[in-house]
Amino acid sequence: MADAAPTAARGVTRRVFFALWPDAATAAGLHARARALHTECGGRAMRRDTLHLTLAFLGNVPQDDITRLEHVAAEVRGAPFVLELDQLGAWHRNRILWTSASAAPQALVTLADALALRLREAGFVLEDRAFAPHITLVRNARAAPMAQTCPVLRWPVASFVLVASEPTPAGARYRVLRRWPLR
Ligand code: ATP
Ligand code: MG
Repeated sequence: MADAAPTAARGVTRRVFFALWPDAATAAGLHARARALHTECGGRAMRRDTLHLTLAFLGNVPQDDITRLEHVAAEVRGAPFVLELDQLGAWHRNRILWTSASAAPQALVTLADALALRLREAGFVLEDRAFAPHITLVRNARAAPMAQTCPVLRWPVASFVLVASEPTPAGARYRVLRRWPLR
């Protein structure tokens, strides 16, 4: 029997997810917010280059499926929108501090829903939990922030990305593999 795949290539997987990735100005604003929370609540502020909003988390997929994932993403249509980040919050379970929008734009929900639907149709497995759009700012926090609201940070969103998460001793390192415009 011919089995063309070299042994080393078989079983190779990548940990991947779809996300919104901030432009430089938004990342700077988010990072300032992360540092302020870190000062107030301890923990570890996320590095500026790691800040993102997860749209759909796939986990480990075979390397050979990455192209299929890209085809699925290319078929997803979405409109640009502005995220008005005006909320702060904490999840005690994993000691994460985050920021989010009190009013999630319909275009964001539509995009995440469309992506999840197409991915499932293509046979990819996603967790069944509800989409809770947020940007993680601090990990291992020892307290929750006093304030639950904050001045609005406006994030203009005009694309989404596929990201590979690569473990390193200093925490996950993210590599943007590809970007698709929203228009
Ligand atoms: P680490 O797990 O090494 O501490 P991380 O959580 O930043 O780092 P990943 O676990 O690779 O890195 O997660 C990548 C992104 O996907 C993060 O935004 C994370 O919150 C999100 N994510 C991870 N697991 C899930 C999941 N089961 N469901 C939804 N989103 C997830
Ligand atoms: Mg994780």
